[in-house]
Amino acid sequence: MLDYRQLIEKYEKDLIRNRRYLHQHPELGFDLDNTVRYVKEELTAMGCEPKEIGNHGVTAVIGKREGRCILLRADMDALPMKEESGLPFACTSDSAAHTCGHDTHTAMLLTAARIFKELEEDLPGKVKLLFQPAEEIGYGCRDMVENGILENPRVDAAYGEHIMSCFPKETVLYGTGSMSTGADLFTITVHGKGGHGSVPHTTIDPINIACHIVLNLQTVNSREVDAKEMAVLDFGSINAGSAGNAIPETAVLKGNIRTFNNDVRKQIKKRISEIAEQTAAMFGGSARVEYSLEMAAVNTDARVTELTGNEIKKHMDLEKVNDHTLKLPFSEDFSYISERVPSAFFLIGACPEKGEVLTQHNPRIIFDEESMKTGVLVYVAGAVGYLKQGKEETI
Ligand SMILES: [Zn+2]
Ligand SMILES: [Zn+2]
Repeated sequence: MLDYRQLIEKYEKDLIRNRRYLHQHPELGFDLDNTVRYVKEELTAMGCEPKEIGNHGVTAVIGKREGRCILLRADMDALPMKEESGLPFACTSDSAAHTCGHDTHTAMLLTAARIFKELEEDLPGKVKLLFQPAEEIGYGCRDMVENGILENPRVDAAYGEHIMSCFPKETVLYGTGSMSTGADLFTITVHGKGGHGSVPHTTIDPINIACHIVLNLQTVNSREVDAKEMAVLDFGSINAGSAGNAIPETAVLKGNIRTFNNDVRKQIKKRISEIAEQTAAMFGGSARVEYSLEMAAVNTDARVTELTGNEIKKHMDLEKVNDHTLKLPFSEDFSYISERVPSAFFLIGACPEKGEVLTQHNPRIIFDEESMKTGVLVYVAGAVGYLKQGKEETI
């Protein structure tokens, strides 16, 4: 069995160099010109033929032989905030910072690519790399799927990783079933009939309707969703009118749904439309529900998770692997891939030994850099293990 750890040690300097460069040059959403240039240059330098895909995505295929194709995904975007980590290589930008660790994901997949390239002649299939934009705003993975990332060559299985500051360093956590929550952001626009506040009987008051909609929707979680299921349905914004003596024409409500179970998600979305429309109709108005974000939960496939997870375990201290089913209250747009091909998802613990434990997106967050080597190992061991299944390969 190949000692991947030795290979990873060989490329550790590049891993750190790439991570620190990306860390110091964060970019947001789809605006990743410099990051895309850097990733393409690094891939080209190692002999890959990178291609841009969709809006600021990069892909490359490694492997010359027939066989299965596994897609490995790393996201590349940062968050609109100022870093306050105090690290010697901290980013000085006021408007962007890698506080979710996507710089480490990109660096880890670049190092994995280097190792796949070294093993290319013996790879029992193909590895498709995906460097994805705009995960933080939830639209990047969808753009990649819509632009054909799962075709040519057709992808048989996929996985992604996320570095996590709240889990012990160099640990790997994964599980089957839904790992993250789905996230849906909705807007309900209520139409009434405006008029003078002194003659409300000549109007249809959209504020009154909006209030009833909010109250009626409270029963969805408390009376309609199975008590064993976790579901969040709440509002973050209500806007209507501008004067105390005028009934407005419209009211606009904005809210948020989070669910682990995609069937519960569908149930809640159906009920929001029904309750909003029927409540508005009851008072003579109308309501329209629209979604600005629709992201399912990441659902991992039992077989792909077991196959890749077992291969990773062969190269790790078993005490550092937690393969129990995980349910975490965050959302991940990798769900656009996991809805379409059998997928796995791995969390890489990277809590620094000293200091406070901070969660992702905190401006002071620090990830343990050594833990990136575990992330590379997960990419390499899992992918090779998946490709060689059922084959007499010695790699
Ligand atoms: Zn994030
Ligand atoms: Zn993230």
